[in-house]
Amino acid sequence: MNKFKYSDSNKRYHTLDYFYKNKFNSKVFKVSLNGNFTCPNIDGTKGYGGCIYCHKGSSDFGGNKEQSITEQFNSIKNMMLKKWPKAKYIAYFQSNTNTYGPLDKLKSLFEEAISQEGVIGLNIATRADSITEECYDYLEDLSKRTYLTVELGLQTTNEKTAKLINRCHTLSEFEEAVKKLRKRNINVVVHIINGLPYETKEDMLNTVKYLNKLDIQGIKIHMLSVVKDTPLEEMYKKDKFHILTKDEYIDIVVNQLELLREEIVINRITGDPNKDDLIEPTWLLKKFVVMNDIDKEMVRKDTYQGIKKDND
Ligand code: SF4
Repeated sequence: MNKFKYSDSNKRYHTLDYFYKNKFNSKVFKVSLNGNFTCPNIDGTKGYGGCIYCHKGSSDFGGNKEQSITEQFNSIKNMMLKKWPKAKYIAYFQSNTNTYGPLDKLKSLFEEAISQEGVIGLNIATRADSITEECYDYLEDLSKRTYLTVELGLQTTNEKTAKLINRCHTLSEFEEAVKKLRKRNINVVVHIINGLPYETKEDMLNTVKYLNKLDIQGIKIHMLSVVKDTPLEEMYKKDKFHILTKDEYIDIVVNQLELLREEIVINRITGDPNKDDLIEPTWLLKKFVVMNDIDKEMVRKDTYQGIKKDND
């Protein structure tokens, strides 16, 4: 019998599926939409070339930017409808930095997205340094009308690594953004990456210990992918830094889950790379094996999310 409070299955951590099911009493799908945004870390406003692992500005996700938001939404919804006629949807702006643009553009895209039939929420992925004051006010207004989540990339709390991967924003900018969003009652989900070059297990656990003390509602845990045509590919070819093995990754993730408060929803627990672009690690292509092995390890250790949440 599973003793974990936020689970009705064999999961020993708080999955997004469980969260949505209980919040909306329905199957919920995220629909990735492309608002044709760019990124201040690519165009020179904050940095050039982007984070070293970023593949084409992370524009691999989402719909076809040549289509309107309504067209993108409908093409995905029509596929889902066949299997899940009663499903609800979260519109998800995922590629690049989705608050980096004039307020009029943001309003037009986000309003179109939330006006689609069946949409009960909106997820906006962005950088902590790319939300203007007027945008915070608009987000607050939006959050009163839909289930709004802002996803912030952090990746690591280690400033040395942040510099190495060319993040081009500081930890204090990140913390400030979390506070401003929470002051407005907006849900915050944070992205982190395990296996960044030269990081130790301790570094990765420290990132999670830090986040555990912040008022965040969710986390996305990624494994670093070395992808073709990125500066990371060059670095990997030259320096052959250590790539986490599957077993190392699972051990780290299980340790991270133990440290996170039970209420924090685990939005993602592994990566989902494109197999044609991936160089390492190839084990990442077997996503369900990784997820199953995490479950097995939690059973073997008889452990749960949050079991060590008070550890400093
Ligand atoms: S912030 Fe995101 S979109 Fe911008 S360079 Fe980094 S990974 Fe790419």
